[in-house]
Amino acid sequence: MSKQEKNKKTKILTIKQIQENEQDKEQNIKEKQIKKQVTTQQEEKQVIKREKQVQKEIGQQKRQQAKEVLKIENVSKKYQAPNGEIEALKEIDFTLKEGEFLSIIGPSGCGKSTILSIVAGLETKDKGEIKIDGKIGYMLQKDSLLEWRTIYNNIMFGLEVQKNRTKENEEYAIQLLKKYNLYEFKDKYPNQLSGGMRQRVALIRTLAIKPKILLLDEAFSALDYQTRIMVTKDIYDILKNEHISALIVTHDISEAISMSDRIVILSNRPAQVKEIMKIEFEIENRDPINCRESPKFSEYFDAVWKGLNIYE
Ligand code: ADP
Ligand code: MG
Repeated sequence: MSKQEKNKKTKILTIKQIQENEQDKEQNIKEKQIKKQVTTQQEEKQVIKREKQVQKEIGQQKRQQAKEVLKIENVSKKYQAPNGEIEALKEIDFTLKEGEFLSIIGPSGCGKSTILSIVAGLETKDKGEIKIDGKIGYMLQKDSLLEWRTIYNNIMFGLEVQKNRTKENEEYAIQLLKKYNLYEFKDKYPNQLSGGMRQRVALIRTLAIKPKILLLDEAFSALDYQTRIMVTKDIYDILKNEHISALIVTHDISEAISMSDRIVILSNRPAQVKEIMKIEFEIENRDPINCRESPKFSEYFDAVWKGLNIYE
């Protein structure tokens, strides 16, 4: 090989090397960019995760710090019946916090409705203290709508009973009718509405008096299964939206779990508090329907069932 040829070959080699080097560099830069993208995505995910965690903690703190709107302390009650005394409640003790949904569950005839009647001031207690902060609304199993009054006049009836049918309150009631899609039914009669719609009217009638606490006594048990599930969600959403605290009496374990932040489990009569169970689902926008899909739902069901221990 001549010297000239040798030189040419080395030159080509060097160019090739430079090219390869450049390609390597480019490759390196690309890889770095991809890595950077992945890390920023991961960082972003972590930031979102941390943000969610903080929000959750703030929510928990808020709930823990929330003031009590209802405090039931050591309440006992005996009914004087013609054939003797019936001991209904024995030293009942629990609280309801602002914005909280609390269910009371227990065997039939144990004294659940008695608790609500005493809280609402419809029954007297023998012993103990009840502290209430705010107006109370009451919803029963039977929607007790007046069949001869239109929906509008049924809503106004709640205000009339309270001797509170002012222009301002009427306007507020109309606002509620509109907000919850009942305004177009205002001139209809209750028997022209479905069971679910009737319950919504009954709720709006109660909300028109601006309660802070709502008592629900087996409010959904007259409805068929599917309507019941839809109505519980409907009422849950409205109550959360209006920032109302709820005390819910039910004998339906699934309903209690799906609706509540805590469940008070009562014993057989005379009712005593056996256990207070916290219900928490890690679900965004939890409601009475989507929480049923959580694996925690059946765990809670077993726990409440065991807590009730009906054979005791
Ligand atoms: P629950 O709502 O858990 O089914 P209640 O609170 O309605 O139970 O009733 C508890 C017990 O008190 C039952 O044995 C019931 O028969 C009795 N009771 C309820 N109201 C009265 C009353 N006004 N007079 C006498 N006994 C009553
Ligand atoms: Mg009852």
